[in-house]
Amino acid sequence: MNQFDVQFDLDHLWHPYTSLTHPLPCYPVERADGVYLQLEDGRRLVDGMSSWWACLHGYNVPELNRAASEQLGKMSHVMFGGLTHAPAIELCQALAKVLPVGLDRFFLADSGSVSVEVALKMAIQYWHGRGQPKTRFVSLSRGYHGDTFGAMSVCDPNGGMHSLYEGFLPEHIFVPAPRSPFGGAFDAAELAELEAVLAEHHAELAALILEPVVQGAGGMRLYHPDYLKGARALCDKYDVLLIADEIATGFGRTGKLFACEWAGISPDIICIGKALTGGYMTMAATITNRQVADTICNGPAGVLMHGPTFMANPLACAVAKASLELLLASPWQQRIAAIEAQLKRELAPARDLPRVADVRVLGGIGVIELHEPLNVADAQQQLVELGVWIRPFGKLLYVMPPYIIQPDELSQLTRAMNLVVG
Ligand SMILES: *Cc1c(COP(=O)(O)O)cnc(C)c1O
Repeated sequence: MNQFDVQFDLDHLWHPYTSLTHPLPCYPVERADGVYLQLEDGRRLVDGMSSWWACLHGYNVPELNRAASEQLGKMSHVMFGGLTHAPAIELCQALAKVLPVGLDRFFLADSGSVSVEVALKMAIQYWHGRGQPKTRFVSLSRGYHGDTFGAMSVCDPNGGMHSLYEGFLPEHIFVPAPRSPFGGAFDAAELAELEAVLAEHHAELAALILEPVVQGAGGMRLYHPDYLKGARALCDKYDVLLIADEIATGFGRTGKLFACEWAGISPDIICIGKALTGGYMTMAATITNRQVADTICNGPAGVLMHGPTFMANPLACAVAKASLELLLASPWQQRIAAIEAQLKRELAPARDLPRVADVRVLGGIGVIELHEPLNVADAQQQLVELGVWIRPFGKLLYVMPPYIIQPDELSQLTRAMNLVVG
């Protein structure tokens, strides 16, 4: 019966943010199709997570499988130093057509965190190129930008990473998290807080880094696009670059292809990842505009100082291009609008439950926030028994299902969420 040696996993394999001495239970998954994960024991779970924002078309997608196998027959990987290939070129051409205006200078990175490292490097090298070195960053409280050291240094300072690695992490500046909710009234006082910091520190600040509109892993917070619009204007006023981390929000999740569109702004540097390959494999990108790229490359270093072994992996590029084509050919706006309307309707009753602090929905994202943290192992078991895959996170129970989810399947997710928090 037990085909997998799950005990070996418990004893030897770290999972994200877990202990090897007190491991949490893990569910062996054997395959995944469409919106379903199939466990080893045959149970089929409706996927509410898109494997962390990534699998927007669901799993085992014929178009993506075809792109991967066609590319496999040509070459899976080849170094990007001194060589180039159609998958990288065609992917970047397709991305340039849909990214916020002006962003058409690409660095293809291995993962979201690495793309953030590259964005920080770009910003630092830009100021080198301008002949006025600036090496500090300002970011938002409750922000999340990844797990590598540079990325961690701009994550929310109360997340545990800063105290643990104190003395090693560079110390940056944090402004309070935006508080005006998406869809509510905007309180301009929030921008005054940001402006005060920029006014005081702009001479040492290379960039402001933020997640546009949705702060993901830092609390699934949905904030007012006017904050983003104001932040863009303040960065211009104080001559500080703006880095938009769209690793979670990119590719339609919020109802716009990129969340920056809610504010009608273009950042100087953007990071994309997660859904870039439709969740098939790891790849991310850091993209900037011509002016930043030229300044970096005319600077003292003359080059952008980064170059990973698996840069522009052809297999990942081919699948990413197929994923973008599939997305753009699909009625994704209608799908997201339908998911949003149904999430709003079906999660609304949770608002009245005593344990529930807030319910919020934007695009393909539905969040129930509790007053107290959930017991992850217990809640997870209950959810699996209810036939859904939803990963509780602290005080949050949230879903961001594949866009192909059908109404009855989405109802299964919301019913399970309401039961678990009831
Ligand atoms: C997930 C995430 C990252 C990190 O990406 P990885 O691929 O996990 O390294 C960075 N920023 C945001 C906003 C994310 O959601």
